[in-house]
Amino acid sequence: MNSSMIGKIEKAHRYAHEPERVKFNSLGATISGDNDEYHVTLSPDGWSCSCHTFQSHILETCSHVMAMQLMLGKMLSDDDRYSTQDGAEPL
Ligand SMILES: [Zn+2]
Repeated sequence: MNSSMIGKIEKAHRYAHEPERVKFNSLGATISGDNDEYHVTLSPDGWSCSCHTFQSHILETCSHVMAMQLMLGKMLSDDDRYSTQDGAEPL
């Protein structure tokens, strides 16, 4: 392996330990809840989830979106890390 590739691999390892370097612009994921699977998406318009709680728009979030926010943490913009408009607590 040439030294140029070794340098790139070393840099990749360093980047991988610095998740704040990454900002997701959009993503889609399936999350297994206790009773069913749900599709969670992040788009420029914000978060969405296929579950009943999110679709009812009562809370404007759900446990699946909140779980994704906790997992992705620093890899989300400030807006995407806190999905509720009112009373959002920093994670
Ligand atoms: Zn949900």
